[in-house]
Amino acid sequence: MKGNINSSKHSTLPLKGERGGGLRLVIKIGSNVLTRPDGKLDVTRMSALVDQVAWLRQQGHEVILVSSGAVACGRRELKVDHALDTVEQRQLFSALGQVKLVGLYYDLFREFHIHVGQVLTMKENFQSGEQFENQRACMRVMLENGVLPIVNENDTVCVTELMFTDNDELSGLIAQMMEADMLILLSNIDGIFTGHPDNPQSQLIHSVAPGTDLSAYIQSEKSAFGRGGMHSKYTTASKVQAAGIRVIIANGERENILINLAERPETTPHTEFIPKQ
Ligand code: GLU
Repeated sequence: MKGNINSSKHSTLPLKGERGGGLRLVIKIGSNVLTRPDGKLDVTRMSALVDQVAWLRQQGHEVILVSSGAVACGRRELKVDHALDTVEQRQLFSALGQVKLVGLYYDLFREFHIHVGQVLTMKENFQSGEQFENQRACMRVMLENGVLPIVNENDTVCVTELMFTDNDELSGLIAQMMEADMLILLSNIDGIFTGHPDNPQSQLIHSVAPGTDLSAYIQSEKSAFGRGGMHSKYTTASKVQAAGIRVIIANGERENILINLAERPETTPHTEFIPKQ
């Protein structure tokens, strides 16, 4: 392993930034954070995360949400009595589930008088100059008008090789496209450990200096409902860190995780990738 781990102190989410006193935050919420063990949508957790995003906005931060959960959500909506292939399942369940997911966000954010807008995107939108510009312009005008973008992959169209690796990759591209100050990846694990997270000998890696290679520590297992895993989080985090954006991996199942990251980062478990100054 090159570089130092756990060598630098945690920084707080600084409450003063260049944009009207706040930061631009991209927050990715994984399918596992939003679904119960039986695969049903965890509305209580979703509601708690919405409360915290509303709090971050009250602190003057801009937030872009990248939310998974459409496929998991749709799977619970409809019992299908005949076999569907992988592509059909993804298309059917995401089409059903995305409506439910965004509808719920709409209702929850409305309590805070926050307008939300849906952005469904695909890999090629980041490859073509014109589509990239249009997408960025759309999200800029949303932010300028106080609308909170909720981004997901357009799962109905993006199948097989057209797909992002997962929403970790997508959130990394969004953070770079929107020149975010910070990307927060919320998963069901506290961050990157020096061994298997269930092994009591393993330690949480608190901070990762630029150029550090952690690949020896990355487990290849994937989580139950999401497409990503720690490997994809690490790959995304390293790329985004190299682009000069701070990245935090934290556990979205922990109560008040976003508020605690902002207010008491020293005692809130997470892994932070510190960008080159
Ligand atoms: N876009 C997929 C969904 O909303 C999730 C992709 C992922 O797990 O990263 O279900």
